[in-house]
Amino acid sequence: MAVSKDLFAKISGSSTDNEYFLPLPKGYQKGKTKYVIVMGTVMSGLGKGIFSSCLAKLLQDKGLKVAPIKLEGYLNIDSGTLNPFRHGEVFVLDDGMETDMDLGTYERMLDQNLSRANFATSGQIYSSVLEKERHGDYLGRDVQMIPHVTGEVKMRLRELAVKTEADVVFVEIGGTVGDLENAFYIEAIRELAYEEGPNSCSFVALTYILEPKTLGEQKSKAAQLGIKQLLQLGIQPDIIACRCENPVTEQARQKMSVFGNVPFERVFSMHDSASIYSIPAMLRDCGIDFQVLRMLKLEDRIQLRHERKEWSRWCDFTDKINKETHDITIGITGKYISVRDSYASILNALEHAGIHLGCKVNVKWIDTTDITNANAAEYLKDVDGIIVPGGFGTRGWEGKISCVRYARENNVPYLGLCLGFQAAVIEFARNVCGINKADSTEIITDCKEPVISILPEQKKIEGLGGNMRLGGRDIELKKDTLAWKLFGKASSVRRRFRHRYEVDPEYIAKLEENGMVFSGKAPNQPIMQILELHEHPFFMGTQSHPELTSRPMRPAPMFIALTAAARKRKYPDQKMDEPLAVVEKVAKF
Ligand code: GLN
Repeated sequence: MAVSKDLFAKISGSSTDNEYFLPLPKGYQKGKTKYVIVMGTVMSGLGKGIFSSCLAKLLQDKGLKVAPIKLEGYLNIDSGTLNPFRHGEVFVLDDGMETDMDLGTYERMLDQNLSRANFATSGQIYSSVLEKERHGDYLGRDVQMIPHVTGEVKMRLRELAVKTEADVVFVEIGGTVGDLENAFYIEAIRELAYEEGPNSCSFVALTYILEPKTLGEQKSKAAQLGIKQLLQLGIQPDIIACRCENPVTEQARQKMSVFGNVPFERVFSMHDSASIYSIPAMLRDCGIDFQVLRMLKLEDRIQLRHERKEWSRWCDFTDKINKETHDITIGITGKYISVRDSYASILNALEHAGIHLGCKVNVKWIDTTDITNANAAEYLKDVDGIIVPGGFGTRGWEGKISCVRYARENNVPYLGLCLGFQAAVIEFARNVCGINKADSTEIITDCKEPVISILPEQKKIEGLGGNMRLGGRDIELKKDTLAWKLFGKASSVRRRFRHRYEVDPEYIAKLEENGMVFSGKAPNQPIMQILELHEHPFFMGTQSHPELTSRPMRPAPMFIALTAAARKRKYPDQKMDEPLAVVEKVAKF
């Protein structure tokens, strides 16, 4: 039984004379925002973020306002210090928040910039509870997991609802049901559903159907047990989405329906798909979107005409998937080569560009630890373009510089991202400007020629722990350069940053005299942000991370240009447009 409307009003705020605890953010309107809660059972890595973002997209297409939030179980305040090898890439939001890679999936799928309000960790929740406790906010009560910690979680969800005026908040709970870390999140959403009343929350359980090769049939027992665990926590799922390599059989879905206590028409197969951009269509075809709308009584808020328009735009994009007429191979140098998640945004940005160009982009991972100038060709002779991506630390550094040299000298299209921008500067300083000892102070702290180093302004704030330049910043573009043209001849563009080191202004003149063009810089500061070399088919580096803002229907210009240049190189006998001409055709800013 849910609390009635009057009771909801009566118990709002905290009080010592009853057992309810329902602090609400200012302006919260019960019933305005509905909640879809996505949880995983059986195992992690099921793609909860992908599922949730695709479902959110379908509702957004219908004209509803959606706002996602990821609830992380770990105690870190943000994802900044997490090892990408273990957790996937660190995704940086425009406001500088360092988050889990799922936020990237939401931003891409919804074509929407998110903020720190869309990301919570246990660390954030506990620290704000402890802060409030010190502040005397709990009115003489002993501070407990329930209701105070769970209350804080609900507060975060409702604050997001107020801030975004969302019709639907999508809550993705990190980890798997049964983890100690996320137990209080699950309790919090149970309470949320109780307080908000019927037709306000829809619980989706993502689960996994095993298909052991030796048996050759689908097995649902583990999935049933996963759902049971959720039921034990007081949550009856409304929808079960069954992940599986192949389409889930009717028989397996029937079992999930009976044992999960969920009507058969709300048990869906969510089998593997070659591109995540095909998943919205898969969900739409099986009607999950309308099931959710019906459960949440949102049918009268949707605009079908809006949907028709959005869906046809989306299909124009997805219809191009798997219809490529050309293919290229991009070499990506990187430390975290064994895990694709570590470079999720770069792979997505390449996929976006490739789909628009009708060109399949294959990736060759290149461990640079053993690469030297002498053997670089062996590693790179079969690639059509090279990316040196962002990174931290010294491993493979000299090998990366050899890759840059190879790209520059052999006219191989090159895109340097953050660390790859710095590597391009060092390579050029050494091999073109003759500054033999050029290096970055990140690699050699007391190097003789610190062409890349921490700027004095940055050093000043270092002691405060704020020495990382994080989040969206403007880049001032230099007129008539390639970067200026790639960005539609705009005077500036905004891109996201996450770095500590930069080009030391002392060396700028020398680099420029020798032909390096700094086509983008920070307004009012001598911080170089984009470089390019002319008389090369495509050689560009940026201190920013353009991959973070590439969207399926608005691919990043630098990635389009790299893909186009690589294609031109691979097919010299075919008439191919110059990268800039391709960008002018494809890019939407
Ligand atoms: N390690 C370099 C710096 O801190 C580059 C960072 C990055 O590639 N994100 O400046």
